[in-house]
Amino acid sequence: DDRWSLRGTTALVTGGSKGIGRAIVEELARFGAAIHTCCRSEQELNKCLQRWEAMNFTVTGSVCDVSSPVERENLMDKARSIFDGKLNILINNAAIGYINPAIKVTLEEYKHVMSTNLDSAFHLSQLAHPLLKASARGSIVFISSVAGFLGINTASVYGATKGAMNQLTRSLACEWAKDNIRTNCVAPGVIRTPLVRPLLDNKEFVAKETRRVPLRRFGEPKEVAAVVAFLCLPASCYVNGQVICIDGGKTINGNL
Ligand code: NDP
Repeated sequence: DDRWSLRGTTALVTGGSKGIGRAIVEELARFGAAIHTCCRSEQELNKCLQRWEAMNFTVTGSVCDVSSPVERENLMDKARSIFDGKLNILINNAAIGYINPAIKVTLEEYKHVMSTNLDSAFHLSQLAHPLLKASARGSIVFISSVAGFLGINTASVYGATKGAMNQLTRSLACEWAKDNIRTNCVAPGVIRTPLVRPLLDNKEFVAKETRRVPLRRFGEPKEVAAVVAFLCLPASCYVNGQVICIDGGKTINGNL
C-alpha cells in the first residue's frame, strides 16, 4: 500500500548523528526514503554513515553547524544537488539543550540558543521551500518539546525557542498548504538521548519526573521517530498544522 511507504522520496534530517535525529533517519530509511543528514562532528557523522551503509540504508551526510546562516545555505545546496532539486521531507531536529536561571542568561548565550534551535528551523524551512514545492508532495516536521507548553525553571530560553516553533508550525501549515506542503510538529517529553544523560543519572529528578508521567517512564528515541515517520507518510495526508506531544501523557496529567 503506497500510503504506508516512503519509497522514492527524499528527506533532509538535521542532527541525525545521535538520539532522536538518528532514530528518525533510521525510521525514514526503513520506510524507503533516501536521506541527507548533518551534524557538527565529522567523526560522529562518519561513524553513523558506516553504520547506515552496513544496514543498506541510502543516507548521505555533511558537516554543518545549523546556527550559521552560511552553513545552512551550503547544506541546502548540497541537498538540492544530491536530490535533483526535489525534497519531500524536512525534519528540523538539531538543537541544543540549555538550562540556566533567567537572571543569569547572557546575551551571547541567548543568541546562541535562538540561532541553533529556532533561526535554523525557520531559515532551513525557507531554503527548503522551493525544493519541497518541486517534489509536489512536501512535509515539514519540527521537533519541539513539552518545554514549549510548560513553564520550566531554568528553561526559559530553550522553552521560548520551542514555543515559537509550535506557532511556526501553524503559520507555515496555512501559508504553504497551497504548495502541497504539510507542516507538523512533535513535542517530546523526556527521551533517553545523550542530550539528557546528566538528568537520567540524577535520582531525585528521575523519581519526580516519572511520578508526573502517567506511563511512569521516560521515552525512547524510536518512539518519537515512529510518530515523525507517520507525519511524513501519505497515510497522514490530511494532518496539517498539528503539534503532537509524545510524552507518556505528562502534559495532560491533572493529578498531583
Ligand atoms: P542529542 O543532543 O542527543 O542530539 C542532537 C543532534 O543534533 C546530534 O546529532 C548533534 O550532533 C546535532 N546538533 C546539535 N547542535 C547542532 C548544530 N548546531 N548544528 C548541527 N547539528 C547539531 O539531542 P536529542 O536527540 O535529545 O534532541 C533532538 C531534538 O529533540 C532537539 O530538538 C531537542 O530539543 C528535542 N527534544 C529532546 C528531548 C529529550 O528528552 N531528549 C525532549 C524534548 C525535545 P553534533 O553535536 O555533532 O552537532
